[in-house]
Amino acid sequence: MESAKVKRIYNFSSGPAVMPLPVLERAREEMLSIGGTGMSVMEMSHRSKFFTDVIESAEHKLRGLLSAPDNYRILFLQGGASLQFSMIPMNFLPSGRSADFVVTGAWGVKAASEAARIGTANVIYSSEENGFRSVPEQAELKFSSDAAYVHYTSNETIDGVEFKYELDGGGTPVVCDASSNILSKPFDIEKYAVIYAGAQKNIGPSGVTIVVIRDDMLELVPPNQPSLLDYRNIANNNSLANTPNTWGIYLIGLVCDWLEGEGGVDAIEKRNIEKAAILYKAIDGSDGYYSGHAERDCRSLMNVTFRLPSEDLEEKFCAEAEAVGLDGLRGHRSVGGIRASIYNAFPRAGVEALVDFMNEFASRNG
Ligand code: PMP
Repeated sequence: MESAKVKRIYNFSSGPAVMPLPVLERAREEMLSIGGTGMSVMEMSHRSKFFTDVIESAEHKLRGLLSAPDNYRILFLQGGASLQFSMIPMNFLPSGRSADFVVTGAWGVKAASEAARIGTANVIYSSEENGFRSVPEQAELKFSSDAAYVHYTSNETIDGVEFKYELDGGGTPVVCDASSNILSKPFDIEKYAVIYAGAQKNIGPSGVTIVVIRDDMLELVPPNQPSLLDYRNIANNNSLANTPNTWGIYLIGLVCDWLEGEGGVDAIEKRNIEKAAILYKAIDGSDGYYSGHAERDCRSLMNVTFRLPSEDLEEKFCAEAEAVGLDGLRGHRSVGGIRASIYNAFPRAGVEALVDFMNEFASRNG
């Protein structure tokens, strides 16, 4: 992992997360002057012709990778995925109606509680009782008759549980937080009214949120919505209602180029399946030394969560891993344990290095 004498480690961080090395190298090359302009992309007007091309091409490439049809808008917002927890109900949860929430982890809890500040949020399913280890079968879900939409989280980053199917709202508009598995596998965008993701895992740096929204949803935005919290206004202004994260949008374009060069979403899914399988096999083959958090049929391909026999051993594991260049393995502060985030840009060699370390650690500390 040497690049121009810079030592890079294996970064298992959950996000901001590892970026593809060729993207960082290209950004470095273009840092002082991009496309002969004599300036960095972060120094130029967001209304310039050059930047207009940057944002349009990022949008176009994302549209291609996501196979998003023409009746969907792709917006670049700020405020993180967390702002979407509020914006979605502010735009789509009118008084007198309710929204349904399928809660399979910590982020779903937050989405529902933010919506409850705006209106009626019905949690129609929660796996909290079993410690967020599972996702429901589609048949278990019964939507409320007056639900304005149903919200779910396709991959729960903290708990490491992932839906293996795309939720069918049966006529109720589906809103999905895909922050931690967008672009990791194909999504059928037409199943969603809105699908959104913070960029900092599979799309680019933090500070940009992607919102893919069906045209007809824009008609539902209430009048007098504060303008920067108004999807219709943002769409009408092509994500330039105010100064966007220009640098982040530029990097998203580079990440899309990289992903296309790697064969696109189908090819990356195959690789993600292989990478995750290597890690889960090590967990399952450890005679119980390592125990996976999620139930097998909903194990995340992106965030592999597991425990060791004690918290002391977990601490030792993380410290020793860090010392050998395996960084970012501490589970989220709310749940503890170990979490290996292995997004698109995370190399297979890093997964293999972790497995070697795990085997060696278990034999020394068994
Ligand atoms: N949803 C999911 C699934 C996430 O993983 C995260 C962040 N890790 C968020 C929402 C919140 O994102 P942000 O910090 O960009 O607001």
